[in-house]
Amino acid sequence: MFRVFASSGGSKTLSDDHQRAAFPGESSHGEGSIRHVRIAIVGAGFSGLGMAIRLKQRGQRDFVVIEKAADVGGTWRDNTYPGCACDIPSHLYSFSFALNPQWSRAYSPQSEIWDYLRRCAERFGILPYIQYNNELLDASWNEDDQSWHITTAKGQLIADILILGNGPLSEPSLPAIPGIERFEGVVFHSAQWNHDYDLAGKRVAVIGTGASAVQFVPQIQPRVAHLSLLLRTPPWILPRRDHAIPSWQRALFRLLPITQRFVRTRIYWRQELLALGFVYRPGIMESAMRLAQRHLAEQVPNAELRAKLTPHYLMGCKRILLSDDFYPALTQPNVELVTNRMREVRANSIVTEDGREHEIDAIICGTGFHVTDAQLPRYVHGRGGSLDESWHPDPRAYLGTTVSGFPNLFLLIGPNTGLGHNSMIFMIESQINYILDCLRLIDRRKLPAVEVLPEIQEAFNKEMQQRMRGTVWTSGCASWYLDANGHNTTLWPGFTFEFRRRTRHFDPQHYELIPREASEQSERAVVQKKC
Ligand code: NAP
Repeated sequence: MFRVFASSGGSKTLSDDHQRAAFPGESSHGEGSIRHVRIAIVGAGFSGLGMAIRLKQRGQRDFVVIEKAADVGGTWRDNTYPGCACDIPSHLYSFSFALNPQWSRAYSPQSEIWDYLRRCAERFGILPYIQYNNELLDASWNEDDQSWHITTAKGQLIADILILGNGPLSEPSLPAIPGIERFEGVVFHSAQWNHDYDLAGKRVAVIGTGASAVQFVPQIQPRVAHLSLLLRTPPWILPRRDHAIPSWQRALFRLLPITQRFVRTRIYWRQELLALGFVYRPGIMESAMRLAQRHLAEQVPNAELRAKLTPHYLMGCKRILLSDDFYPALTQPNVELVTNRMREVRANSIVTEDGREHEIDAIICGTGFHVTDAQLPRYVHGRGGSLDESWHPDPRAYLGTTVSGFPNLFLLIGPNTGLGHNSMIFMIESQINYILDCLRLIDRRKLPAVEVLPEIQEAFNKEMQQRMRGTVWTSGCASWYLDANGHNTTLWPGFTFEFRRRTRHFDPQHYELIPREASEQSERAVVQKKC
């Protein structure tokens, strides 16, 4: 059941559960009514879907998922570039409660992951809760009724709890190159691949050599007439060693799920070992660097090209890439590696700083995403202003999940929860557990709101930044892990099992628990008693 408020702020009525997917004008609420739900989730990618599934499993029915696109899948729906695949082993890259015995390869292709997410949404009955083609325009905390007043492209909504599962890699970042607006050819970003544009026989410039570009460059190289790859910083690349999963193994995983769980656990611990090198002993990375140098030497016989592709920073400082076909593609006669910086874009060319003009028909930007400078925080307003304002000078949250000044707001993959070494699904599930534990407390004590104490958040963020010192990420490279102030507010500086342990229980002592009386009298009280 959910409540419906008259937009005039008047009386509350109860409505039928069947209307859960409707906005004003779409249902029998009558015009002017604003739907009130217990929980609003933004995004139907791994985070939002995982949250919705776990809520439903817990018996919660009073929630909506606000999704800006026409389908579920998040980053795995948007990134359709040729060769798009996961660089975390397939068996680890799924929800712990929904292993997929059908992965066809050691590293699953995008289509299989997207398909997996769609099947999860269907199997766990989440589809009726999703508002498609609906974008969050504003979410403001209302002190009077202690709830989030949400404006979306389709209407308004009131929610007691707001959960942001919009993902940190959802806003493509385009390079600001002088003159790009004068370019007469085709320009697109890797996350918005233009499948209508036939690359065959075209002169194409690819900007960037990150995780996306190393996957699509080998795919497009045989089709294009000429490929100019604009490289700013050579990445560290390790062998990928992808392979098909034999059908007998898939059958075994289907019949005896424990075998897949065993493989998954083994992969988890192998990945986890990397944190040793990233966080505790960056020196360990040297042996991995030697492996990568051997990989480069084996695949690129030309010394001049090899020199251009040799990284000059500690491995792991930027995301480590896995590829067996990127280097070989660059040795092909129709590819030129351009290491001079871009000076300007003209109608049909890119001019580099050495004055050379590279004639091109299309530009593909593999230039990454707005991570620490995303737009969405501008649209979320707490007690003292927007999330974006509260995140000056740096994005801050407690356990990457709750933010002081933003009662009843929960973030999935918030600040300092990203990983360079293991599966993000593990982190997402840890956060979901934490949020569920908090919701249990809210329900049990009938609390209208909870809010992390500022000093707890401050201490946590201080700890994060202290722990970043001496890690591989602060060893002197520029990366999207760092914000404008050079602070790594993106990654979790430790083992993921530590994050799991710290998010296992919601500790009410770290929060202001706003009791009902206080809410009714618009007063705030701190309840420090442990439940
Ligand atoms: P990215 O790793 O941020 O790489 C962006 C690339 O563009 C870098 O090479 C960067 O150079 C270059 N670049 C950016 N702006 C530029 C400019 N103005 N001029 C010249 N070069 C510019 O982006 P991404 O490859 O899209 O990957 C983003 C993240 O998505 C990854 O780190 C990963 O977390 C995720 N991802 C995951 C997978 C997967 O398999 N799981 C696949 C793809 C992506 P600099 O290095 O010099 O900055």
